[in-house]
Amino acid sequence: MIRSAWDRRIERAGELEQSCPPAAALMRFYGETARFQRQVTQGLAAAAQPVDERFLLRYLPPLFELVRREGTAPMAEAAVLAARSPDLWDALLRSHADPTDPGYALFGRVLMQPYMEWRASQSEIDTGTVRPTCPFCGENPVAAVLRQEGDGGKRTLLCSLCATEWEFRRMLCPSCGEEDRDKLPVYTAEQFAHVRVEACETCRVYLKAVDLTINGLAVPVVDEMASVALDLWAEEKGYSKLQPNLFQM
Ligand SMILES: [Zn+2]
Ligand SMILES: [Zn+2]
Repeated sequence: MIRSAWDRRIERAGELEQSCPPAAALMRFYGETARFQRQVTQGLAAAAQPVDERFLLRYLPPLFELVRREGTAPMAEAAVLAARSPDLWDALLRSHADPTDPGYALFGRVLMQPYMEWRASQSEIDTGTVRPTCPFCGENPVAAVLRQEGDGGKRTLLCSLCATEWEFRRMLCPSCGEEDRDKLPVYTAEQFAHVRVEACETCRVYLKAVDLTINGLAVPVVDEMASVALDLWAEEKGYSKLQPNLFQM
């Protein structure tokens, strides 16, 4: 059987649960969530007819059950409340459109991520044009990814919703378009040699970059989450994150 992107994320969460004790609980929860999202993807792939977002409804009860069992106390509480909400699906779709609604953002995005990634996988996407938001779904990037290319490095952005990766320039702020190298500081910490904070002094926004030239085993979406210590540091310095991740961090 071919290893899917979900398999790699689940495996990486297991590795980081062992090797990165401060993020162990988060990685365990993410691993469970990604297993659930893999099931959604398998369900989508096996559907006999073309499906739309309503196909995801059947996964709500098991998702609430998962979050009640494995999530943090506030997440579990939100799952209990959401399960009782009469216009739940509308609320979830609204939160998909408005990612700042924390009550529903988790459930909406856990379901929409595999759905949008599955749709993106069946589409022709122009990933070669430099632009600040996802060429497929229009969402913000959750992280940047650095790879070796020729003698230099190549920087791509990773969509927070559909996981599409598209090309971006090394020295360019995806939030405000600043290009001045002196205004785009990069911060690193010893504990995460391969994850760096890429900030902008002009708009005071940052995103994290996962450097695959330093650690080729990293899986950007997972390593971004595990390095939550860097987010705390950046926020202390007065930067705000371009786009919170799945767990609203
Ligand atoms: Zn996208
Ligand atoms: Zn900026």
